[in-house]
This record gives sequence, C-alpha cells and structure tokens, in this order.
Amino acid sequence: MPEFCDVALPVPLDMAFTYRVPPEAMPVVGGRVLVPFRQQRMSGVVVELHDREPSVTTKSVLSVLDSTPVLDDQLLRLGRWIAAYYLAPLGEVFRSMLPLMAEFKRSVGYRITEQGQMALHIASASGSSRRSHRPPEEQAKEFQALDYLIGAEGELVREGTLRSSVGVSRSALESMIRKKWIRREDISASQDATLTAKVAVLKSAEGKLNDNQRTLIETLSASGGKIPVETLRSLDVPRSTLATLVKRGLIEIIREPADFTVSRSKPRPSPFDFDFNRPQQAALTGLREGVEARKFSGLLLHGVTGSGKTAVYLAGMREVLASGRSAILLVPEIGLTPAVAADLHQIFGDEVAILHSALSGRERAEQWHRIKRGEARMIVGTRSAVFAPVGDLALIIVDEEHDASYKQEETPRYHARDVAVMRAKMAGAAVVLGSATPSLESYFNTRKNKYSLIELPDRVEQRPLPEVEIVDMRLEFQETGHEQVISRKLAAEIKDRLDRREQVMVLLNRRGYSPVVLCRTCGKKLECKNCAIALTHHKREHKMVCHYCGYIAPVPRACVHCGSEYVYFLGTGSEKLEELLHGIFPQARIARLDRDTVRGHEDFERTLNALNEGELDVVVGTQMIAKGHDIHGVTLVGVVGADVALGFPDFRAAERTFQLLTQVAGRAGRGQTPGKVILQTYFQDHYAVQYAAHHDFAGFYEKELQFRSWMHYPPYSALANVLVRSDKLDDVLQWSGQIGKWFAQNRHEGVRVLGPAAAPIMRLKRDYRYHFVLKSPSREKLNLALRAMLGYAAEQKIPRTQVIVDVDAQWLM
Ligand SMILES: [Zn+2]
Ligand SMILES: [Zn+2]
Repeated sequence: MPEFCDVALPVPLDMAFTYRVPPEAMPVVGGRVLVPFRQQRMSGVVVELHDREPSVTTKSVLSVLDSTPVLDDQLLRLGRWIAAYYLAPLGEVFRSMLPLMAEFKRSVGYRITEQGQMALHIASASGSSRRSHRPPEEQAKEFQALDYLIGAEGELVREGTLRSSVGVSRSALESMIRKKWIRREDISASQDATLTAKVAVLKSAEGKLNDNQRTLIETLSASGGKIPVETLRSLDVPRSTLATLVKRGLIEIIREPADFTVSRSKPRPSPFDFDFNRPQQAALTGLREGVEARKFSGLLLHGVTGSGKTAVYLAGMREVLASGRSAILLVPEIGLTPAVAADLHQIFGDEVAILHSALSGRERAEQWHRIKRGEARMIVGTRSAVFAPVGDLALIIVDEEHDASYKQEETPRYHARDVAVMRAKMAGAAVVLGSATPSLESYFNTRKNKYSLIELPDRVEQRPLPEVEIVDMRLEFQETGHEQVISRKLAAEIKDRLDRREQVMVLLNRRGYSPVVLCRTCGKKLECKNCAIALTHHKREHKMVCHYCGYIAPVPRACVHCGSEYVYFLGTGSEKLEELLHGIFPQARIARLDRDTVRGHEDFERTLNALNEGELDVVVGTQMIAKGHDIHGVTLVGVVGADVALGFPDFRAAERTFQLLTQVAGRAGRGQTPGKVILQTYFQDHYAVQYAAHHDFAGFYEKELQFRSWMHYPPYSALANVLVRSDKLDDVLQWSGQIGKWFAQNRHEGVRVLGPAAAPIMRLKRDYRYHFVLKSPSREKLNLALRAMLGYAAEQKIPRTQVIVDVDAQWLM
C-alpha cells in the first residue's frame, strides 16, 4: 500500500505537493482529495501514489473525495500537455478542466429532528400565546426555519440557503441545535447532493383543500401535473403545505436528472428540412470517413456564410450518436442562445448536455456528472466543454474556429481549438474545424497537409453572396465638409429598405456614446484612474466608463487637468449611432445590441426574435451582431467604422478586420431577397478591406501570409508574450530589467526576444505593464527559453503571478 500521494493544487506554483495517505481510505490517481495547505483546506487532484519518504515533514490528507478518478488517463495526459505547452501550473490546469470545485467549498447543512417537528407542532397548535424569555422575533424566525426544514422532506438544507430564505441568525441556529430541534451535518464532500432535481408530481386532486393547498394543486395541474419543487416553493405558501399534501398522497416527490431548462422560445424549423447540396454531402462524407477510421484526422471546413455548415455538424453528430459513441461541439461564447439549445434538444433529446456561460457552478457540476455517468453523449458548449468527461470520443467539432473567445485570457491561457486537436489525437478521434473565415494558422495547416480541406463555396439554395459597395469616408468629408457618421449613400440605402419593409443591420464595433473626451485647452484626454485608457461617455446612464476595468466617473463639465470649460466629446459609439439613426428615420423601429443592452442570453435572444418576427426595422450593434445569426429579412448591412482595429499595433489586426467584415457582410441576404453591404471606411485601399469586399478569402490569405512570413509572425513562428506587471512602477522596471538582462546574457539560439518595452496599454487595472515578445520557428526552443526564464524569475523571487506567459498570444496589447 503506498504511503504517500502527490497532489496538484490550484495554486500558482509549478509543483505537486506530497501528503500522507490517510488510514481510512486510499486515494486514486485522477481523483480528488481534501488537504491542508497553509492555513486553508483545499481540494486537489492526485497525480501519483508512492512510497518515497519526503525529506520534509508531511501532513495527512484530510479526506478522500473520490473513490474513482474524476480525470481518466486521457484527461490527465491532456492536462499535463496543457501545463507543459502553456507553462501553466498543473493544479490550475486541472481546476479549469473540472467544474467541481463548487462542491468542495466547506459547507454545512441542517436537518429537522423529531423534537423539532414536535416543537413546531405544539407551537402551531397553541398559536402565538406561548410564554418565553426570548424576544418574539427571534422565536418566530426559529419556527420559520423549522417550517422550511419540514418542507425539505427530510433532505439536508444548506446553511446558506436556510439563512438567505428565512433570514435566521447563526445564534438562532446554535440555540436550535442545543434544543436538539435540528441537526448539523458537514456536506463538504457530498457529491451527489446536486445531481438531480426534485420534481413534484400530481397524484390526485380529490378531497378537501384549504387555500394554500389549492394554490399548489392548481399550479401543479396547470403545468401538466409535473413541476420542479423549486417552482412550487417560490409560491407564497408555507413550506409545510407541500409536506402535508405529500403525506396525504395527493402529491408525490420524485428525483429526476437535473437538466438545462429548455427555452420557451419557439423551436425554429428543423435544420434538416432541406436536402444537402453536393458540397455539404462531400463534407459529411469526409467527416464520416474521419470518424470511422478510428484514428486521428483533422478536417478544415471552410464554408462561406450561409453555406449550411451547422447542418453538416448536426448530421455528423447524429451518426456518431447512432453508432453509440460520443461527440463534442464547441461554439463561441455568443453562439449558444436558448433557440440553439431548443434545436439541440429537438434533435438529440436527453442525450445532449449543454454547457453555456449562464450556468452556475452547481449546474455545471450537474451536467458534468451526467456526462461522466454516460447519460449524455452529445456535448455542446463553449471553451471549457473541450474537457467534457465523455467516453469513446469519436468527434470534436469547433464551430467558428477563428473566434477569439476560444482563447482563455487567464491562467491557464489555453486555446480550446488547439486543445481540441490534441484531445482528438490522444483519443484517436476526428476533429472538424469550421469557419467562413478560418484562422491563418488552421488554413496554413491544410497547406502543410496536417488537415484536409473541404470547401463549401456556395450558399444554400444557390443564394448569392451580398454585393459589397465601399464608401470612402475621406471623400465623403471633402464633398460634404463635415465629419459624417452615416454617409449619404448608406442613408439612402437604409431609406430604400425601410420603404420596401425590409430590415437593416448597422455595425459599429465600439459601444457607448463617445469614446473620447478631449480638452481643447490643454489637449489632454480624460483617462481611467486604473488604466492608460480613455474613458467612454455613456449618455443615457450619464457616466464615464472604462471598458477595460469598469471604473466609473462623473461626466466632466470642465477639464480635470486644467479646469478649462472647453471639453469636447469626440467620436461615435453604438449608443450615439442609434440616436443618430432615430434622428434621420424617426418612424423606424430601431434596437441596439451591445454589452450595454445585452446582459444575458435572454436579452440577445429577445431582440433577435423581434427582428425575426418583423417587429424591428433596424438593429445597431457591435460585433455581437456579426456572429452566426440567420435572420432572413435582413437585406442591408451597413458597416460604420469596422476598420478602427486596422490602426492598432497588433499583427493580427488585418486578420481580425477581414474576419469581422466578412462575418457581418454574411448577415445580409440570407432569405429570398439578395443582400447588399455598404462598407464605410477610411482605409479603402487596405487589402483587408478590399479582399473582404470581394469575398476573396484566398486572396487575403496569400497576402497576409506574405506579411507574416516577412515579419516572422505565426504561423511561420511560434510566438509568446511575456507580460511583467505590478501596481508599483518600480517593481515592473526592476523585474523587466532583470529578465531583459538575463535574456541578453543567456542567448537562446533560434529564439528572438523583443523587449522589454512598455506594453501598448501601459497601465491596466492598476497594474503597470512591460512586455517581451518571443518568436521562434521551433516550438521546442521557445518552450525551453520560457521555462528557463521562469526558473530565473523564481530564483530572483519575482512573484509567479506577476510574470504572465502567454503562449500563442492572441493580443499583444
Ligand atoms: Zn485641460
Ligand atoms: Zn480602467
């Protein structure tokens, strides 16, 4: 029997920690244990069991949380690969892979005892005329708590739930424990408490009912005789009413697997209503061959917007399901709307698990357990769904594989697309990357025959791609003598669509009212207190907001630097664009989609539904409107300043602009009427603008590859951004200086090091930031250099959390 276990803990240290195995239970590799760490209790994943006595004294494992691994061999290997490739602490990688940490916060729950039930019974029989030395409010709270616990039918109620629902104090709970009315239990390690939801089922409505009882019975029968217990409890009746009805046999409480609440939005027509065209059939065949080979294969599905990629994915997944195996479909953050969820439920029934960003930690854990038990084999979700614990993985699909939301911008800074490819390799599965605008990296991989390429060059039903007309805004300025936001051409085209009762989308990829407040006297901008970033004016909410850290300031009447009254609000954001359009088209029904108007999926869905139903004429928005929606009434897309990004000092700026322009143009003309795009730009000669206007992906790709090759940027080099940060400028200067000197003295052959230099955003969220950019044609050499640098930084006692290594960085800002 091994005496020790090594545990990976979610702390920013590149090591595992050794603990003594407890006598009562044996941990398993890949399972979790609860251990003491510094002054806390912490759960971590066991990576090794052994008998090697450590040189230092060893503490004991507090409890073994899993008797079987939560991470199987394949996921453990995948975690190790991520830790090595992205230079991230293994424990932090495991934490990202497992949505189970919520289960292991130390928590206690309560259960009512027989004495408690008796006390409640006596109290309700004798009314409120009992004599007691305790204050009546406190007593009332105790009985409310007892009533709540009775309503739980003997189930454990978490302390947090009890306190927030009843408002009972800790001391009242203690007093009730002393009276033996309730029992406290430790549920830190309980795993099954959250797996299922309780559902009330109507058995009979016979017999005499009081008002409260009738309310419950009627609610239940109005919803078809079956309803989550939670819903009944949200009604304004005492919790004991339900218990009484259960006792009388009118209602039965059963447990059902908890599930993603299916949206109430109407299911759209099934995506299988049309026949596949030839390229779609070819894509499905390619996908099928990859799956059936039972070894790794990569496929890039490059399909123009509206070419029916989703239908191919779903057909492929259905075949995988029919063969008894599993599939994962990754979608970008904004892609998982309730309507999509409804479609998926319609196609896959209970076999689908949907992991979206609106899930709570508990709900995520529930889905995870369902998948682990093999109850759901079709997994759909955002970034972290790539870690879903499915068995017999046959297929991973990454939809919109170019999307920036696949990159996690905190430790571990992994890219879910690249992790998907690695997981497929380990599982001997097929991976399909799909996009209308593939990333340069993925397209380059097809050139090198790492992936095969399948093109869907046409829209379904031979619908044409929209015509794109470029409006040169410099000319517009010369001819009108004014800085225009909406050109004459765009205004005329919008009016035309409104007259024809067709719909319009207008993109401006910047939210707020005006992005800059400038003093005409001293020339300074109003900046965030925590960041070197101009504050954006939000007119309706009457405040200045930092879009990077959320800092809020009042709207200035005078310059904060010199006191001058000549402060000017410059530039246009989506809020101002909406106002301008209201001014030009007062009759039009206009809505806006950006992070200020969309707080959750429901807001987003509501606006899209309104557009679909013809209740809106114009939707204005940021890049949110560019992503994947299929609204048939939209025949005109206006692009107002989507090329702002071309001015950013970032080598991916052209690629991003091309992608955004192509994606938003793709929203036009998806129905019977052909679409048109008006593209306003100050950079009309830029190749990203020109190629997007001509729907020429291959042309853009060639040109951009040339640039990347000259500059030794990806995909020709592996690249990492090393950011040194601190809220003290002196620290940053000292640390980046030390690391810079070390890089100069320890030359790593084949690795170019640029820096240290102030990062383009020199101050962010209070931290000063300096950075290095490392490039190398050899990934291995790059990795070695970074590893050695981290070792040096640790020796110099530079805190690990202040040196951020971002391998394959998406942003160098
Ligand atoms: Zn000033
Ligand atoms: Zn800020």
